[in-house]
Amino acid sequence: MSLELKTTALVAAALTVAFVVIVCVIDAHSPWQVAVVLLALFAVIAATFDLWVYRPVGGLIARARRRLGGNYERSDPRYRDEIRELSYLVGTLIAVFTASEDKEWVAQSVKEDLKRVQSLNRQLMDVGVIGREMNAALPYQETVERVLSRSRSFLHADFGALLLLDAETRAFSLEGTQGVLTSTLSAECCAYTADCPVRAAISSGEITRTEGHACSLFPHTMTHQLVIPVKVENVGDMALLTTSTSGEYTDLLTEDILASLQNHVRSALTNAHKYDAIRRQVVTDHLTGLYNRRYFMNRAGEEIERSLRHQQPLSVLMLDIDNFKQFNDTYGHATGDRVLQTVARAMKAVLRKPDICSRHGGEEFAVLLPNTPGDNAYHVAERVRKTLSDTRYTGLGLPPEVNITLSVGVATCPRDATVLDELVDLADKALYQAKAEGRDMVVLWGSERRQRVSA
Ligand code: GH3
Ligand code: MG
Ligand code: MG
Repeated sequence: MSLELKTTALVAAALTVAFVVIVCVIDAHSPWQVAVVLLALFAVIAATFDLWVYRPVGGLIARARRRLGGNYERSDPRYRDEIRELSYLVGTLIAVFTASEDKEWVAQSVKEDLKRVQSLNRQLMDVGVIGREMNAALPYQETVERVLSRSRSFLHADFGALLLLDAETRAFSLEGTQGVLTSTLSAECCAYTADCPVRAAISSGEITRTEGHACSLFPHTMTHQLVIPVKVENVGDMALLTTSTSGEYTDLLTEDILASLQNHVRSALTNAHKYDAIRRQVVTDHLTGLYNRRYFMNRAGEEIERSLRHQQPLSVLMLDIDNFKQFNDTYGHATGDRVLQTVARAMKAVLRKPDICSRHGGEEFAVLLPNTPGDNAYHVAERVRKTLSDTRYTGLGLPPEVNITLSVGVATCPRDATVLDELVDLADKALYQAKAEGRDMVVLWGSERRQRVSA
């Protein structure tokens, strides 16, 4: 029975008893008459209370309850249990506080607990923010820098480094450092797992804290060390090392917070590596591994602008294998493909790192030589031609006398042209001159310089 009904019954019963007493005392009617009257009176009183008192009051109470507990009732259903639990905890806290004799002590310890929770909450939020920053789609090397800078400031570390373990040799290499010069840190350390916190962390997958460990991976003043191992998809086992002269801050970090940081670092490095791989695919010729034509043209446009801005010459080589159709017809297309790969490797070996080497299509290649005047470009082209002409194709099942040669055309910016299409067109024209004059030859556009096949 509800509280309202119980109260109604009690009030009605009390009024009835009072009325009976009054009726019995004042006038003695027959008991049946008295009972009927009392019953009627009871019904009237009960209905009156229900209609005029409890329903309006009940409505008011319900409205007030809805308002007070609105968050709880309207809250996201997923968190109702948590909110209920929190309400219970707060209720218990207030009850303990009320009942306690030493209220100051209780208040103090509750405040300290709340501060700890607040600090945990802040750390969780911070780790979420740096996680998002690390995971912004960036090239791998930039992500390594970002992982180091964000982790270092989050962990209040003096120094941070990211190490990669070579799966075969079990040697470490440094992917990046912060707070210490890479040259002062040696990743060439012993291979004993037992003594090394980094190897131990990697093999167990556990976040490891050490104090006073001394080895070439940690600057010796950094007495407090934290190692977070991360398995990065398609890269391998890595470890984030952070160290500081004091361990106070990291001591406050819970394993959950560090595990969250570990997850962010892992996903950031994995995604960045995938991002780089996709970017490489987009600009790479799949057969030779050289840049493709689209990348070459984009890059050439940028390099021409730079060349004009800094008044530095830029040269373009167009290279085409001689009589390749005949080669394919004789030895087969598959062998032709392997020759193209060998030619690409030989070209890369001859060229400098800043030179952009691309497969322009079929058996045609294009090379961009930044900061190189025409005469120098001519000598570079001649070196490539000579190397190719001297290359022997062993292991392809070809007769030993088989010789692959190529012809090269050279044009230079700004001397010959300052517009990309024109420059490439002139290098192409020089190439066709080389073909026309006997192949296995370099022609520098607008010059009488020729290098004929050494007869
Ligand atoms: P030239 O000295 O005048 O350049 O003669 P060429 O036979 O090299 O020139 P042509 O343009 O007549 O033929 C190019 C040949 O290159 C045709 C084709 O069989 C071959 N080729 C083009 N792309 C590929 C490729 O991806 N793989 C292989 N194996 N051959 C290719
Ligand atoms: Mg050809
Ligand atoms: Mg061709």
